[in-house]
Amino acid sequence: MYIVGEEEAQALQRVIRERALFRYGFGKECDRFEQRYGEHLNVKHVALTVSGTFALSAALTAIGIGPGDEVLVPAHTYMATATSVLTTGAIPVIVDIDESLTISPRAIEGAIGPQTKAVIAVHMWGAACDMDAIMEIAAKHDLLVVEDACQGVGGSYRGKKFGSIGHIGAFSFNYHKNMTCGEGGAVATSNDIYAGRTRCAIDPCHYYWKGRPDGVDLFAGNGGRASELQGAMLNVQLDRIDGIVAAMRDERRRILDIIASNTISGLFCAPMHSPELDCGAHLMFQLPTSEAAERFSQIMPVVIAGKTGRHTYTQWDQILMEKGAAHHLMNPYEHPANAACRRHTAVDQCPSSLDILMRTIMVPMRPEHQADDIAAIAHNILETAKVVLEGKPADEISLMRAAAIDESKFDMADDR
Ligand SMILES: *Cc1c(COP(=O)(O)O)cnc(C)c1O
Repeated sequence: MYIVGEEEAQALQRVIRERALFRYGFGKECDRFEQRYGEHLNVKHVALTVSGTFALSAALTAIGIGPGDEVLVPAHTYMATATSVLTTGAIPVIVDIDESLTISPRAIEGAIGPQTKAVIAVHMWGAACDMDAIMEIAAKHDLLVVEDACQGVGGSYRGKKFGSIGHIGAFSFNYHKNMTCGEGGAVATSNDIYAGRTRCAIDPCHYYWKGRPDGVDLFAGNGGRASELQGAMLNVQLDRIDGIVAAMRDERRRILDIIASNTISGLFCAPMHSPELDCGAHLMFQLPTSEAAERFSQIMPVVIAGKTGRHTYTQWDQILMEKGAAHHLMNPYEHPANAACRRHTAVDQCPSSLDILMRTIMVPMRPEHQADDIAAIAHNILETAKVVLEGKPADEISLMRAAAIDESKFDMADDR
C-alpha cells in the first residue's frame, strides 16, 4: 500500500527465476522472514500464513479457544476479528470502545462472565490499545489476550512491538496494511506450545516437512501455508517498515504542533495510549456532535470512523444473523456447549461506541507526504474547524491542495 517498488519486483523475480516458489525443501524466504520478523518483534516464534484472518483464527485455535468459550471483541474493528472467534466454535461477545477507538478496559471488566476465556485487543487504525490496563485485568481474571495487530504492524507500546505484548499476536500483510505482500498474515508468540499449535492450524501437513512440534498433540488444521513469493516480498517490506511508521508519526506530530499553537474551542485530538510509538497512521479528532463531524467531512475529505462500513459491529451480518458456520451442526450459535454463552448481539447494544464513532474524524497520514502537503493538511484542518466549530462563514476560507486530499487516498482509508 505505502511504498512498493523496484526492490520488491526484483525479489519476486529472483524467486520465480529460481523456481523456488514452495517454502519447504528449497525455499528460504519464508524461513528468513519468520526469523527476522521474530527479531523485529522480540518474540521467539513467528509463523507466516495467507491472511490476517487466517492468522487470527490460528492464534485463537493455538491458545485453545473452542466451544463453550466467550471471547471479548471490540465494537469497532474489521469484522474478521469477530468471525475468527466463530471459526474455533466459540462465541464473540462485543464490548465498547472508548475515545481512543480501541477496546475500553472498563468495558472489558464489566463484560467478563463465567464463560469468558479471552479478549482480542485490536490496535485499530494503528493506534495503541491501553495494554497495561488490559494485561492487568486479564491477569486478575485469568483471561488470555490475543492482540489483533493487523493494522498495527510497525507500532509499539512502552518499548514493546504491537503483537508481542499479549499471549499471542496476529498480523495482516494485506494490500491496505502498513507492510504488504498483497495478501498475507502472521502469528507471533513466545510460547512454544502455542507456536506448535499455530503450525498445526496453518498447515495440516507441516509435520511432514518440519517434524512434529514437541509436546503438541496433532490436530487437523485448515490450509493457510504462505508461498515464497509472499516471504520474498515481505523481506523487502520489513526493511521499509520502520521508516514508514516514523514518517507517519512525524507527519502527525508536525500537524499537531501547528494545531496546538492555534486554539480552536471544541477541536479535541482523540486520546492516544502510545503517542510516540504507535503507527501514526491517522490523526483523529473528536467533535462535539455527529452533525459537526458530518459538516467537517463535507468541507474537507476526512473519514468519519463510524462510516467505514464493516468496521462497526452493526455491519457484521453473519454475527447479527447468528450464522457462525456453513453447516448448522457446526454453527457455534447452535452448539450445545455454547448454551451458557451470551450468544445474542443486538445492533443497539453499544450506544456509547456508536456515539464516539460518529463524532470521530480521521485524517490519514502518508509516508510520501512532503512538508508542503503537511502544511496544507494542517491549514485545512484549522480552517475547516473554524467553520464547523466557530461559525466562520464557509465562503471566507480557502483550502490548500494536499496529496491527502485526493480521492484515491480517501478510498484507501475507507477501504481497510
Ligand atoms: C485487515 C484486518 C484483519 C484481517 O486481515 P486480512 O489480511 O484482510 O484477512 C483483521 N483485523 C483487523 C483489525 C484488520 O484490519
